[in-house]
Amino acid sequence: MDSVTRQDQLRYLSQQSKVSVLIIGAGINGIAAFRDLALQRVDVLMVDKGDFCSGTSSASSHMIHGGIRYLENGELRLVREAVQERNRLLQLAPHYVKPLPTMIPIFNWQSGIWKSAAKFLGLSGLLSFPADLRLAQSGGKGHQRGGVMVKLGLMLYELWNSPPIVTTARMPNHRFQLRASSLKQFPELSPDIVATAIYYDAVVLSPERLAVELVIETERMSQNATAINYLSVVGMADSSSTVILHDEVSGQQFQIQPELVINATGPWIDLTNRKLNQPTDFIGGSKGSHLVLDHPQLRVATGEHAIFFENDDGRVVLLLPYFDYVIVGTTDIRVDQPEVYCTQEEITYLLEMIGRVFPHIEVKPSQILYTFSGVRPLPTDSSKQSTGQISRDHQNKIVEQTEYSFPIFNLVGGKWTTFRAFAEQVTNQALKFLGQRRCCDTRDLVIGGGQDYPFTDWEHWIATVAENYQVDPKIVKKLFDRYGTVAKAVIKHMSEPLLSRPSQWGKSELNDLDPVDQTKPLSNAADYYVGEVRFIAEQEKVVFVEDFIRRRSNLAMLGQDTPQLRAELTEIMADLLSP
Ligand SMILES: Cc1cc2nc3c(=O)[nH]c(=O)nc-3n(C[C@H](O)[C@H](O)[C@H](O)COP(=O)(O)OP(=O)(O)OC[C@H]3O[C@@H](n4cnc5c(N)ncnc54)[C@H](O)[C@@H]3O)c2cc1C
Repeated sequence: MDSVTRQDQLRYLSQQSKVSVLIIGAGINGIAAFRDLALQRVDVLMVDKGDFCSGTSSASSHMIHGGIRYLENGELRLVREAVQERNRLLQLAPHYVKPLPTMIPIFNWQSGIWKSAAKFLGLSGLLSFPADLRLAQSGGKGHQRGGVMVKLGLMLYELWNSPPIVTTARMPNHRFQLRASSLKQFPELSPDIVATAIYYDAVVLSPERLAVELVIETERMSQNATAINYLSVVGMADSSSTVILHDEVSGQQFQIQPELVINATGPWIDLTNRKLNQPTDFIGGSKGSHLVLDHPQLRVATGEHAIFFENDDGRVVLLLPYFDYVIVGTTDIRVDQPEVYCTQEEITYLLEMIGRVFPHIEVKPSQILYTFSGVRPLPTDSSKQSTGQISRDHQNKIVEQTEYSFPIFNLVGGKWTTFRAFAEQVTNQALKFLGQRRCCDTRDLVIGGGQDYPFTDWEHWIATVAENYQVDPKIVKKLFDRYGTVAKAVIKHMSEPLLSRPSQWGKSELNDLDPVDQTKPLSNAADYYVGEVRFIAEQEKVVFVEDFIRRRSNLAMLGQDTPQLRAELTEIMADLLSP
């Protein structure tokens, strides 16, 4: 399958002066709008100053969830939409989005009732109890919700759990376990608990892959859709309707006149609008950090459950099983700039939180494999006491068209979970502006490797592919877990020996084999294969080796990003990189 290179796209761009829609920012919100608009046959150009999905969208808690916590803020619309989108994604992207049993440890039965009711009714400011009364009310456990509140919340949450018409996925309902059976199932759990609640949400272990798959698939489906990474919007040309784009790789500049701009730059939205000569104050960012821990005891203690609880000041803490490791997150800190990193203070806080539920598990700093941080692109809202109370819902804030310039749609907020629904709403508004009609619906559109997904007979699928291509079934299984049914294309590619060796493969160990066996595992990441790396580099718009390590694979999060691996990957993919 020949793919269009980044160079081809830049050459094409240099010959273009106009486009219907320019999307700035290829995080999940920009990508979802790109996909929906392209499906409506709108000509659309999407650019990102970095790689696809390298901003906030690469720093989430990996949950595809309804957001049970938002019920308390009265965000019923958002929760309903998110639960339905979660169920949709389980069906439409089953290769990436998986059901996730989630456990809430409960330390008492009654706390939080008044506080939650006040928040739900928007009266939390009025009901500000003195600190001592607050503690007494919550049984000395600060803001933790008691069993009664958790039960009510889960019942409400599950009201919307019926599957949307297009899907058949329905998550099991919640259940409560009393102390004895909870401690039997989770022996390391704090003996202070009175019960645990188990409910179902979903997880996406490779969100960046899902995002990139949407980009690639959209370009394949539409002649009018172009997505280019490492291409920044840097300003406006003299003519007030012409945007200047800067190639971060070559330094070359391009100009384009859009009819409509979608500013999907997340926490950079206001900075981008300044570049477009339309200053705004839409974003009040909140930073969140996570740690990936290599801690076998903690991994066994969590089992296959995410563990979700609140600390004393109401902030949510999440422990999430991630392959052989555990992710712990997250912080929630107001920030006024989009580039952030995980501080020592956050590390200390997150490690301390683990002790709240697993008092006998000690985590040493040396067990931190990886850290990641991002900024939630929340709306500015100084009326709220804490960042946790600011709405997590999405909105399209429109900067109206002037006599000289295009309108700007600004995609503020939004969850990973709701990307499709948000894009649908934005696309409808864009179509109205462009005077076009919707011709295609995304509600039942399967994503990439979810196509023809063998939900129940996957073992048969694996055996058939292994036999057809004469590849070890263990390799097929690994690639199926990684790419869903796209694994077949990867395996087809791998099963063809490389007859002419790329010129950069000088005197190296790869040279020992003649012709090159593409099913050979990498020396520095034995779970990956030479042909697989070359397939991804060729098909998935990889510009730098880092793109592969951080976003086309989970290698960085799994702590495998070493100089040796980078050197090996450079050698394998150098002739395919797309600068
Ligand atoms: C800590 C944390 C945990 C979260 N957990 C979850 C979760 O578990 N589940 C969930 O559903 N949601 C979660 N979210 C929310 C979700 O991740 C975000 O709302 C979503 O990813 C925002 O995506 P975006 O596309 O708007 O922004 P981004 O992903 O930040 O994309 C913006 C893009 O714009 C680009 N850009 C910036 N300036 C320019 C320019 N001048 N030119 C070109 N490109 C530019 C950037 O490079 C970036 O790629 C979490 C968020 C955070 C921070």
